Amino acid sequence: MLARAARLARVRDAMRDKGVEALLLSLGADLPWLSGYEAMPLERLTMLVLPADDEATLLVPALEAPRVAHDRRLFALRPWKESEDPVGLVASLVGTRRRLAVSDRAWAAHLLALEAALPSARFEPASRVTSPLRSVKDAAEIAALEAAGAAADRVAEALLGGEIRLVGRSEEAVSTELSERLVQEGHRRVNFAIVGSGPNSASPHHEPGPRIIGEGEAVVCDFGGTYYLDDTVGYCSDTTRTVFTGEPPREFVELYEVLEAAQRQAVASAVVGETCENVDATGRNIIGAAGYGDAFIHRIGHGIGIEEHEDPYMVSGNGERIVAGHAFSVEPGIYLEGRYGARIEDIVVATESGPHPCNRSDHSLRVVS
Ligand code: ZN
Ligand code: ZN
Ligand code: ZN
Repeated sequence: MLARAARLARVRDAMRDKGVEALLLSLGADLPWLSGYEAMPLERLTMLVLPADDEATLLVPALEAPRVAHDRRLFALRPWKESEDPVGLVASLVGTRRRLAVSDRAWAAHLLALEAALPSARFEPASRVTSPLRSVKDAAEIAALEAAGAAADRVAEALLGGEIRLVGRSEEAVSTELSERLVQEGHRRVNFAIVGSGPNSASPHHEPGPRIIGEGEAVVCDFGGTYYLDDTVGYCSDTTRTVFTGEPPREFVELYEVLEAAQRQAVASAVVGETCENVDATGRNIIGAAGYGDAFIHRIGHGIGIEEHEDPYMVSGNGERIVAGHAFSVEPGIYLEGRYGARIEDIVVATESGPHPCNRSDHSLRVVS
């Protein structure tokens, strides 16, 4: 709870810096990050009204109020009844404040109603205030990412150790097994379990289908879920390992060696003070020097936390400096269309003493069946 009070204080500071008079948080990750309460994606409005200069109030539909673990030190709770107008309630809490920041993921219908109710207000995305703060994880958040990563690693180890049978099964069946194992290892939700086999391994976000996995194929498995360490807000895992069914051809072994070096060097380059785009460039240069430059078709990584993809993005053009507490994926891939592909992905937390991986399962190319 101390962590949330500290976050609230940092948010108020950032609001004052940016001239935002009130923050209006509805759907999305900002609300649970600040309050510990996750709004259901309902047509009924849930909104935390947080003025820079006054107490915060959480408006929730009355029927949702019992789910709110209410901490009076953080916000007042105002359940609204079916006969009340929640937009009018928000407008009266906002009062004469004009510069408002609203959740990026708020429903357009709610924002349009707020605009009509507050004609002199100017709205901007809440991420302008919250994103730079949310991208720097505190100790409690790093512990949650670590626990999520360790749980995903236990699934990766089962894959690498040949415990998850591949040959003769469909991608769908393997995806289902990966999902079940993510839950068995402690995830509350599975967010995705990509299985791309044979030529499908060259499609980075392949939707697992009925294709039966054969002998002598690359299989890319990229999976993650949401893990609750403190029972209020979940944090995401996301890891990728590539295995080969049977002895891999020489060209694949060479490609994989390039990929492994690129991933390792990119992780090593993710030091405090360096830019986010430099991590991408480090991996990309190694892959490019080996002649696979055109086969690495996506950014090297994304921030991760309550959301699978959030700031900071490790991509060319992002000159933001890495600071201690940034958490992000490092996931280069090499994809030869129609033939095969490979990707290695770990979540990494930047610390003053260097990059710290949350995923630690083996990177070497494993032959499985
Ligand atoms: Zn992806
Ligand atoms: Zn992934
Ligand atoms: Zn990822």
